[in-house]
Amino acid sequence: MVKRTPLIAGNWKMNFDHLRSIAFVQKLGWTLKDAKHSSAEVEVVVFPPFTDLRSVQTTISSDKIDLRFGAQDLSPFDSGAHTGDISGEFLAKLECSYVIIGHSERRQDHHETDEVVTAKTLAAVKHGLVPVICVGETSEDLEKFGAAAVPVGQLRHVLEALPADAEIVVAYEPVWAIGSGQAATPQQAQDVCAALRATIAEVLGADQAAATRVLYGGSVKAQNIATFMREPDVDGALVGGASMDIDEFSAIVRFPQHVTTV
Ligand code: PEP
Repeated sequence: MVKRTPLIAGNWKMNFDHLRSIAFVQKLGWTLKDAKHSSAEVEVVVFPPFTDLRSVQTTISSDKIDLRFGAQDLSPFDSGAHTGDISGEFLAKLECSYVIIGHSERRQDHHETDEVVTAKTLAAVKHGLVPVICVGETSEDLEKFGAAAVPVGQLRHVLEALPADAEIVVAYEPVWAIGSGQAATPQQAQDVCAALRATIAEVLGADQAAATRVLYGGSVKAQNIATFMREPDVDGALVGGASMDIDEFSAIVRFPQHVTTV
């Protein structure tokens, strides 16, 4: 049985300029070091805005901080006449490890379809970035189709275009739970994460399914993280609001210390 290292990812969205990002990663680094955190036990990744990435890269590297980082989006294209877009090649040069793709805010605000999400995922893989593929149902979808149908369909669309050995992370984020303070129940998260893993097995094979980390996202806090992490198919969390508070985020990262007591 493959061991999947838990992954806690912080999506800062359009918050923190580069100066605040520098201060935040330094403080987070010290806090986790003081707590004797090891990335072999729980991997921690932050997703700053594009304009902060170079500063975050140099801070992490010069201060030897045990954190990884990624971008919140990328272009499906490598270069050319695409004003405002950022290529996966540029992100790879900045030593980004990950890139978030298909976050519901991009699907909504920028009308990103499954086709666009698939093209962006292929661009990420081509440039050696691990895509964090976000899928999830709206409250209307939930009412009409139940929880799993929409996220499974969104994921299947991407998987069918991927090379079987591509490293990916999947984030199940029910749209109604994002920023609402109303998280899914651990059982709801487990059921959909299990359905997503079964879809990976069906399309890419059992080994890929066993190795791929499936995260839950939507109103995750220090107080509820342990309940999600007890579920067998939940391998971590994509955290929005709570990832911008050092104490809250570091408490989420240190979930193994409170996993048995909550
Ligand atoms: C998110 O934006 O991906 C997210 C899960 O936000 P929040 O944790 O604030 O619900």
